[in-house]
Amino acid sequence: MSLTLHGIGVSKGIAIGKVHVIHRDTLEISRKTLTKVDAEVTRFKNAVDLARQQLENIKEQIPQNADVITFIDSHLLMLDDSLLTKVPVDLIYEHSCNAEWALQMQCDEITQIFDNMEDPYLSARKNDVEQVVIRIQRILHGHTDVESETTMAGLANTIILADDLSPADTVLMQHQGILAFATEFGGTTSHTAILARSLGIPAIVGLRRATPYIKVDDTLIIDGEQGIIFVSPDEHCLHHYQNRQNEQKHFRAVLSKIKSSPTVTRDGVPITLHANIEFPEDMDAVKRVGGKGVGLYRTEFLFMNRHSPPEEDEHFEAYLKVINALQGGPVTIRTLDLGADKQVSDSHVTNCNSALGLRAIRLCLNNSQLFKPQLRAILRASALGQVRMMIPMVTGFQELEQVLSIISEIRKELQKKSLDFNPNMPFGIMLEVPAMAICTDLIAPNVDFLSVGTNDLIQYTLAIDRGDEAVNYLYDPLHPAVLRLIKMSIDAAKIADKPISMCGEMASDSHYVKLLLGLGLRSFSVNPELFLEVKQIINNSNLKNLTKLTNQIMATTSSAKITKLIKNLNL
Ligand code: PEP
Ligand code: MG
Repeated sequence: MSLTLHGIGVSKGIAIGKVHVIHRDTLEISRKTLTKVDAEVTRFKNAVDLARQQLENIKEQIPQNADVITFIDSHLLMLDDSLLTKVPVDLIYEHSCNAEWALQMQCDEITQIFDNMEDPYLSARKNDVEQVVIRIQRILHGHTDVESETTMAGLANTIILADDLSPADTVLMQHQGILAFATEFGGTTSHTAILARSLGIPAIVGLRRATPYIKVDDTLIIDGEQGIIFVSPDEHCLHHYQNRQNEQKHFRAVLSKIKSSPTVTRDGVPITLHANIEFPEDMDAVKRVGGKGVGLYRTEFLFMNRHSPPEEDEHFEAYLKVINALQGGPVTIRTLDLGADKQVSDSHVTNCNSALGLRAIRLCLNNSQLFKPQLRAILRASALGQVRMMIPMVTGFQELEQVLSIISEIRKELQKKSLDFNPNMPFGIMLEVPAMAICTDLIAPNVDFLSVGTNDLIQYTLAIDRGDEAVNYLYDPLHPAVLRLIKMSIDAAKIADKPISMCGEMASDSHYVKLLLGLGLRSFSVNPELFLEVKQIINNSNLKNLTKLTNQIMATTSSAKITKLIKNLNL
């Protein structure tokens, strides 16, 4: 009998194949009172060492992928953290108990702290702690295989269904030719979901109770975009999805043909199309789609999963890699935007967990030790390539003055040390706080360029937390207030004769590209995965027609009507 199950689609793509269900045996953990406590501590320490060895082993097996390495490294870091390695030893001594029990007590303690956090990104990190603990517990229970706790060997061309999967499992999946996966637990921001997207494996998480409805060897269709699983689909459904799969393949092949062609509208207007990156290694993806410039380099990822902030030279080395990969192309390096949903694991930057709090430039101005090494590195890098510096979340003019004064101080320092930099390095800000978007006409004369960050601009304009699934339905790029802010910023930048770009996700969304062109946007910076799709839409656009329809959209208040007009726009 065919059946449909719904979860959260976290990595798009369609997969059709036989299912392999992974049932993990639940580990029974009971308390034992021991007399030989020293031996138990040694047993625990050996288990931690073996867990480390397992992770190192996985790291060696996987292809070079920055996201993946980072996740494995974050688990390795936890194995060095006293909370997971020293405290359980103290507990063994204190209670004369077995290692499994001590570790479980400590794990419960840590996960309770995570449970009390409202931030979805942080609460998803609880999952990582649990996965590391399970790894050690399994070793303590005698599963001492150095390879990995889940063997994916022999499962090529199957779809994996599991209660939960660790990032390490996900990595091995791609290596073993697994088609897709679905899990009962997990959310959009879990590391496993992020990895699936980065590795291009269709994936659905948060299915709740799916395993009772799926038998070994059932045929499944996974629609990773819609978050739907079809179990034992009928002929009609199978045929429909096979066609869609073929269409997607064909679409990708067609898109790759425009890789080297210019980005220009049908009526001959050239459009700037750059890419967004998080790591220097992302340049591989940018080059694959023929990208020649980076419009947003999110540098905060260098700060994550580590004990201390990066030093100036480390920043510099990372920028240099991007500059070299671009071979003369421009890179817009955005200064640190930590806080809100982007947290670091350690205390070198704390108290920055609110979207309205000490985030991004506010945090940097509050902590010059964090900010100055990065500014120095960007300035030094500017001597070696087409580097532009961009400041996130600017809210007031005074902030801008403060930043400019620090930069001028640093320039003097560099001059004194005879270190090269580009004195004319373009300096810009992001428009992501409505207050600044409204004042674009006032701020534009003071900067060299502007970039609209719609992810935050929408969040702050509509007063909805961008990470909160409960209010996700209100996250509306077509809200008239958002459209007005975007138009206002583009118009003001034009009058001031300052280039304006958009690097928020709205620019990468195929639904909005024509609308944005109609609003006057002439520069986009997009996710490399969507680069060619956006390029194709631009190359098929006629600006004259778009401008007329866009004016109509701007005069409409009903969302339904706007959606209809957008559809016409995209025809
Ligand atoms: C944005 O807010 O649109 C943006 C590009 O920045 P981030 O997503 O990194 O906050
Ligand atoms: Mg932002």
